[in-house]
Amino acid sequence: MTAPEPTTTHVRLRPEIAALPPYRQGRPAPENGFKLSSNENPWGPVPEVERAIAAAAAEVNRYPDATALSLRERLAERWAVSPDEVLVGAGSVSLLAQFVLAAAQPGDEVVYSWRSFEAYPGLVTVAGATSVQVPNRPDHGHDLDAMADAVTERTRVVIVCSPNNPTGVAVTREEFARFMERVPADRLVILDEAYAEFVRDDAAVDGSELTGRYPNLVVLRTFSKAYGLAGVRVGYAIGPVPILDAARATAIPLGVTAVATAGAVAAIQPEAEAELLRRVDVLARRRDALRADLIAQGWPIPEAQGNFVWLPTGDRTAEVAERLFESGIVARAFPGDGIRVSVGEEESVDLLLRVLGELVGPSQEGPST
Ligand SMILES: *Cc1c(COP(=O)(O)O)cnc(C)c1O
Repeated sequence: MTAPEPTTTHVRLRPEIAALPPYRQGRPAPENGFKLSSNENPWGPVPEVERAIAAAAAEVNRYPDATALSLRERLAERWAVSPDEVLVGAGSVSLLAQFVLAAAQPGDEVVYSWRSFEAYPGLVTVAGATSVQVPNRPDHGHDLDAMADAVTERTRVVIVCSPNNPTGVAVTREEFARFMERVPADRLVILDEAYAEFVRDDAAVDGSELTGRYPNLVVLRTFSKAYGLAGVRVGYAIGPVPILDAARATAIPLGVTAVATAGAVAAIQPEAEAELLRRVDVLARRRDALRADLIAQGWPIPEAQGNFVWLPTGDRTAEVAERLFESGIVARAFPGDGIRVSVGEEESVDLLLRVLGELVGPSQEGPST
């Protein structure tokens, strides 16, 4: 049998890397339960995507096309840019790491809001740079004025996450325009729009309206959430060619597989995409209904523009997460802060409302503490 995992080593590692919390995947959902902890799409692939992936699988003895040109060409067309203004990566998390590596070195600062995407702090540390976390506003949205104030001589990257994971609040078009006016044009701004397709607020910023407008802006999108391809790892960036070239240079070569590219290309063919966006619409309505019902129960749920809702459970986080788990729902708990619950299967919503409804009874202290 395998020896117990050693907990220490004498091998000289970078101390800041060795100190990073080890990645532990969320608990698997209990039998007949629901995994609502990773903002995954509850539906499997549409037939067109499944067929394209199967066809690509028959040729996995070959290396993939290093620049995913077929996918870049199609994306370039819809974004009205050249294929060189599109960079495809093994998920947009991969691209985030590449951009941070390309722009920030030890001594440099990367500014982002907090709480935001849990991957940001680790990526910054791995690059050897320093995180500057700007607290969210009381409504759980980005405080873009404070983020612009936090830009110093040392800042190399600012990450804006809209809608913000895990709180759900979107940045408005106006807020973003004002922010871009204040950030010096020689600092990279990354607009992480992993949940763009779920946005139903017309005032929200939309990266697709901003191409060519700013020389220092890169927009990130992913096929993992709305397009249901989290398992094959594919996302993309739209931005100025020299910035994308620099990010490309930091990538581990051939990270994007032909299976992933084929799945993504198939997912944006008209028929497949129409069905996928219909599903997104179902999820967006389900989210709005869920949020309204939770608010009616007394939960102070912030604006929710992604495929998830945020429960600001504060000190009760562990207790509420445990109750959800016992009832068959795995959610993502951030101890002492809140719980992010993905909008998934229809039946999960009823269960969720029943469990959370019981937790806001008159005998309770109240969920907003
Ligand atoms: C899910 C997510 C991503 C994308 O993840 P990939 O699967 O790597 O494309 C990027 N940013 C945020 C904020 C996310 O929540």
